[in-house]
Amino acid sequence: MSRRLLIAGNWKMNKGPVEAEDLARALKAALSDENAVDLMVAPPSISVVGVVSRLRHTGILVAGQDLHTEASGAFTGAISGKMLREAGCTHVLAGHSERRKVFGDSNEVVGSKVQTALAAGLIPILCLGETLEERDAGQVDSVIHGQLQAGLAGLQADQVATVILAYEPVWAIGTGRTASPEQAQEVHASIRSWLDQHHPSYVAQQVRILYGGSVKPGNASELLGQPDIDGALVGGASLDADSFTAIAKATQL
Ligand code: PEP
Repeated sequence: MSRRLLIAGNWKMNKGPVEAEDLARALKAALSDENAVDLMVAPPSISVVGVVSRLRHTGILVAGQDLHTEASGAFTGAISGKMLREAGCTHVLAGHSERRKVFGDSNEVVGSKVQTALAAGLIPILCLGETLEERDAGQVDSVIHGQLQAGLAGLQADQVATVILAYEPVWAIGTGRTASPEQAQEVHASIRSWLDQHHPSYVAQQVRILYGGSVKPGNASELLGQPDIDGALVGGASLDADSFTAIAKATQL
């Protein structure tokens, strides 16, 4: 089965409403005719409505960066999946390493966010990744498989098939250090084989697995050329329309 590449930009805590709409306008001008790959941006939640409205009819999808495990209630400062859906998001990140590290999201919390996202009609992008210490200790597979087990717990095979996974080695995020295409491919293949062992085989064939960690215009095509890499989750380089556009077009050079 051929899986369509997805290039997604995570703007993190950058681009308030005004700057976000400027960037969305620039992406619309550069990429609205792009149909070789799927495209998505994840602005901060305060900028989602404006970005959704700028990108309407462009085919560029909008994702939330995080959601609360509950659908509504007394959770000051939090955003629910239902709100993101209402604002026009189709997808939401769950378990980004910054959420895990800075905000303490455990594997179980991430699993619950994946379920809440699906219940709200959003497609979760479940982020996975090991630290450098874990890699050096030979624990890559056990860490990633534990994150998969908890992140996808309780889902039916049909639901798992719709989820997007993002392998983002923590040591490569925002550091300028990228996993080599071979290192990334090895982990992506291991993720796909875990899916194959735990679900009917169509699931592993269908699920898209993005790579994230210092993806730039200069390294994108080699990473995206690996058989089990189905796209990229881009942080820093997604904040600039030219570099995000170059990554989006990297496979067509
Ligand atoms: C990310 O935040 O998901 C990410 C991969 O960041 P960067 O591209 O800046 O490493």
